[in-house]
Amino acid sequence: MLEKLIIASANKDKIKEIENILKCGTIKEILPIPSDIGKIIENGNTFIENSFIKAKAVYNYTKIPSLADDSGLCINALNGKPGIYSARYGGENLGYKEKMQMLLDELKDKDDRTAYFITSAVCVLDDNYYIAVEGRVNGKIIENPIGFKGFGYDPIFQPDGYDITYAEMNLEEKNSISHRALAMNKIKHILDNIYHI
Ligand code: IMP
Repeated sequence: MLEKLIIASANKDKIKEIENILKCGTIKEILPIPSDIGKIIENGNTFIENSFIKAKAVYNYTKIPSLADDSGLCINALNGKPGIYSARYGGENLGYKEKMQMLLDELKDKDDRTAYFITSAVCVLDDNYYIAVEGRVNGKIIENPIGFKGFGYDPIFQPDGYDITYAEMNLEEKNSISHRALAMNKIKHILDNIYHI
């Protein structure tokens, strides 16, 4: 059994989604990030690097095993943009309606509309031991946004095998197939193996 695990995120929806996946596994107690930890600068060049920076900072501060994730949308014809800059694309103050329109404009003349959502998750277990996984959902960017559920780039992303966007799915449906769910299920599987559920 793993006695304690901190989820290194301040996003309540994300914490709830991750807790839902991890709670029936080998972890005894899931804890929030300490409120006095201060700002963690995510200056990595990859999703995995950013997750590691977050998880390691929280572990170093608390000495309690810590899990962090980093996600984004990568569009193949735009060389992976917006990628690690998904949250800040076009500027921090630009709304998602405008961010999506920018991407749709950039894609106007491109035949290839394939894209993927990715989540990297890193769990730092002790000073010398961490695990890292990725969850990825392939799909395509549709011509115009459709749907009002979800958040971020959901209205322009249609996962492979579906004829609706992430934003047309209800929360349970999206959470059951999402890139974050894939990554967290891998983390759960590995922790269950290490700590012998
Ligand atoms: P985070 O690392 O999970 O905070 O995600 C970083 C950014 O990627 C978000 O602010 C969104 O712009 C984008 N993103 C990540 N996951 C999703 C998703 O499930 N739907 C839409 N946008 C997402």
